[in-house]
Amino acid sequence: MNAPAEKDAAKPSNFLRQIIERDLEQGTYAQRHWAGHPADASDHLKGQADPAKIRTRFPPEPNGYLHVGHAKSICLNFGLARDYNGVCHMRFDDTNPEKEEQEYVDGILDAVKWLGFSWDANGTSHYYHASDYFDFMYRAAEYLIEAGHAYVDEQTPEQMRANRGDFSRPGTDSPYRSRSIEENLSRFREMRDGKLADGAAVLRAKIDMASPNINLRDPALYRIKRAEHHNTGDKWCIYPMYTYAHPIEDALENITHSICTLEFEDQRPFYDWLLDRLAEGGLINQPHPRQYEFARLNLTYVLTSKRKLKQLVDEKHVSGWDDPRMPTIVGLRRRGYTPEALQLFAERIGVSKADSWIDYSVLEQALRDDLDPKAARAMAVLDPVKLVITNWDEIMGAGFLDACSAPVHPHAPERGRREFMCGKELWIERSDYEETPPKGFFRLFPGNKVRLKYGHVIECIGATKDANGNVTEVQAKLVPDTKSGTPGADAVKVKGNISWVGVADGVKAEVRLYDRLFSAAQPGAGDKDFLEEINPDSLKVVTAYVEPSLKSAKGDEKFQFERHGYFVADRKDHGEGKTVFNRVAGMKDSWGK
Ligand code: ATP
Ligand code: MG
Repeated sequence: MNAPAEKDAAKPSNFLRQIIERDLEQGTYAQRHWAGHPADASDHLKGQADPAKIRTRFPPEPNGYLHVGHAKSICLNFGLARDYNGVCHMRFDDTNPEKEEQEYVDGILDAVKWLGFSWDANGTSHYYHASDYFDFMYRAAEYLIEAGHAYVDEQTPEQMRANRGDFSRPGTDSPYRSRSIEENLSRFREMRDGKLADGAAVLRAKIDMASPNINLRDPALYRIKRAEHHNTGDKWCIYPMYTYAHPIEDALENITHSICTLEFEDQRPFYDWLLDRLAEGGLINQPHPRQYEFARLNLTYVLTSKRKLKQLVDEKHVSGWDDPRMPTIVGLRRRGYTPEALQLFAERIGVSKADSWIDYSVLEQALRDDLDPKAARAMAVLDPVKLVITNWDEIMGAGFLDACSAPVHPHAPERGRREFMCGKELWIERSDYEETPPKGFFRLFPGNKVRLKYGHVIECIGATKDANGNVTEVQAKLVPDTKSGTPGADAVKVKGNISWVGVADGVKAEVRLYDRLFSAAQPGAGDKDFLEEINPDSLKVVTAYVEPSLKSAKGDEKFQFERHGYFVADRKDHGEGKTVFNRVAGMKDSWGK
């Protein structure tokens, strides 16, 4: 495995880790063999002892881009495999004969790799497609018929629904349930050979129409659907149902721990029923995989449904799958999130068996904790107004530029210093000046002294306003002999200091200030239309000035803009003469507000 992080023995335990540790201790899967590729029981048996201690899998449907919920599942499945000397398989669940879009396949593979994981292990690429198992699935279906465990039902869909019963009523046996094995087999082959119309019949498991678990009331295994499949073309006009296909995929791949979200809990008895039957028949390796369910990720202010995210893209509510406001992995990446931050997030939220909502601030805090020790610092003015130092020419000399510097990172002196020039004219934040200061305001107001960060102390004189009363320029006087880092600089005490960028060497930048995409904490909850809960102010674009060290910023490079938070050079639009930054997150949590 390509391990993204050191194995950490101190990782907090959870119910999945306990199950795996118990299985390892008891040697539950120690006797398994592995054919070197997915295979049935007899082929696996010919292979060597399975070199993987456990096998997990990540099985997306290639019908969209992955989102932060998938990131949780990826970190979980690949992370467990890494931590327990196992392997995690990358498997596309493509049993639905729908058009597989190469764009989605590529996007999913990129996302997993970017998160820091790999499906290569022991010299093998564990990259699989569920549709490669269609032949085996068919063979397994014939076996079930021959063993008396499946039948072809030709009731109409309405009859089938009516006869299924409900929570308070047991189901009623189909009149086709008692067909002979021979008749079932020939009818199933007719289904396969295209002799029956779409929807005219289904193959069903013969379990128990009175089971309190409705999923065990003879669930459908195969349906007739004339459709081209991207992998198998028109070879098949019958396709396996997901609930039938998934356990078989796991079994052929020697998966040990099949981890899925809670909504599949009621399917587990069928998962076991099916694999028990196939194991009895000697078709699949034993002991067979086990399914374990965990709570899906729900994140406040965020949608985690591919279908709804696709709607946002298709209806152009966002600029694309990688819009920095999207909770897709490509969106989070462009927003400035790092693989390490997402891994840290996944670790912190852990896994549980109860559904809950995670506060968005947990995701942001993981990002801050990852970036704080890494990101270079820089000064930036996001809402600029000009400050003129009226006595500059007299004290420093006309046209003189005073070289100032600051550490690239305050806790890593070895990373060197950034340099920038102070001059007569500077850009400062509009909010740093108040004509009449509110209580506790220590920045610029007439008569008050503040320090220009890394520079001199100045004393505010006043400001010029336009006809509407908007400040167009602030004026101040420089206090001599107070430059930061020089002897006696602290002789003049000030309560505030302000960030600034020189008019002479500042770099004009487009800065995109992102906010939550939805104004509701649980978008679309309670029958609300999620589209009506879109936050109209989720993007504000400003023209800012940033210090000259950022001229060499590369796309995707992250910074901490002092006072403002974390920013990233936009991976698409930054560069070639354009300076574009995205705000990833503020310095402090603003989500609780
Ligand atoms: P969506 O409803 O967004 O399409 P899905 O579950 O249908 O999601 P799949 O492509 O089938 O998407 O998912 C692949 C894997 O990711 C599954 O194992 C699924 O359990 C997991 N997964 C999907 N959404 C979440 C989530 N919100 N939290 C945790 N795991 C998730
Ligand atoms: Mg799905």
